[in-house]
Amino acid sequence: MKIVMLARNPELYSHRRLVEAAEARGHEIRILNTLMCYVNITSHRPAVHYGGEKLDDFDAVIPRIGASITFYGAAVLRQFEMMGVYPLNESVSIVRSRDKLRSLQLLARKGLGLPVTGFAHSTKYTDELIEMVGGAPVVIKLLEGTQGIGVVLGETHNSAKSVIEAFRGVKANILVQEYIKEAGGTDIRIFVIGDKVVASMKRQGAEGEFRSNLHRGGTSSAVRITPEERSTAVRAVKALGLNVAGVDLLRSNHGPVIMEVNSTPGLEGIENATGKDIAGQIIEFLESNAKSGNTRTRGQ
Ligand code: ADP
Ligand code: GLU
Repeated sequence: MKIVMLARNPELYSHRRLVEAAEARGHEIRILNTLMCYVNITSHRPAVHYGGEKLDDFDAVIPRIGASITFYGAAVLRQFEMMGVYPLNESVSIVRSRDKLRSLQLLARKGLGLPVTGFAHSTKYTDELIEMVGGAPVVIKLLEGTQGIGVVLGETHNSAKSVIEAFRGVKANILVQEYIKEAGGTDIRIFVIGDKVVASMKRQGAEGEFRSNLHRGGTSSAVRITPEERSTAVRAVKALGLNVAGVDLLRSNHGPVIMEVNSTPGLEGIENATGKDIAGQIIEFLESNAKSGNTRTRGQ
């Protein structure tokens, strides 16, 4: 196969591993800086250009589009889809997964377990909003946040209200969520490829920290998951229309609840915690599925 990977930094562990795995399995792989791709959408034959060259003839595209460039990256990926290049994850699904409210709504529609979650634009009904999700303590999240930044625990009604008002005062969009105390600062990352779980790990937040993000000092280790957790993760990935994703769950008293579905999951933590060759399994998935037109949405 001829594979193209949209990524900004070829040196990142995940990107190096994907290149290594593709080459080890006899494929050609080329990394393009997403932001340096330019596109002709009006031509009879849709095309992506790069450094003066018109790209063609690729069998598959691996999007590794960072959250900060979702809009432009999705447009470039959509262009590859229009050219009939098979995407590891489709542009529509990536855009869904990057919007926290939209993805929680799609998951709720499928009846998947979520923390009780609310959102509001106006601060007029903040008291009701906090009560609606079960009252303090509640978790308040910036919709644009990643790596645990912008996730705040409001321990009392008044502190939650102040945080919500402060965020809204600077026009930040937020959601308010039931605090799953029993998770104890631990979450479960489940790595799904196709309709199978290929690896899972547990992440434990630093001492005294309720957020388990590795970027916030958390540590990870392999974990056995339950059949219910397995099926929740697979159904969540399917609900968003993704092929490869990392699903973050909390273990609550009322079963697994989904935190988020990451459409560009990192490989370093999960490969180190489990010793598995996840990059190789991603390339294998492409070998079985990368046929022109084998997509669900065609970017619509
Ligand atoms: P980000 O996308 O920035 O990583 P998350 O929504 O995944 O934000 O939250 C970061 C971490 O904070 C989670 O992995 C989890 O450990 C903790 N957390 C988030 N929401 C809740 C919640 N409702 N109850 C308990 N812990 C939570
Ligand atoms: N392109 C899809 C549609 O319009 C998106 C649906 C969605 O994500 O909700 O049907």
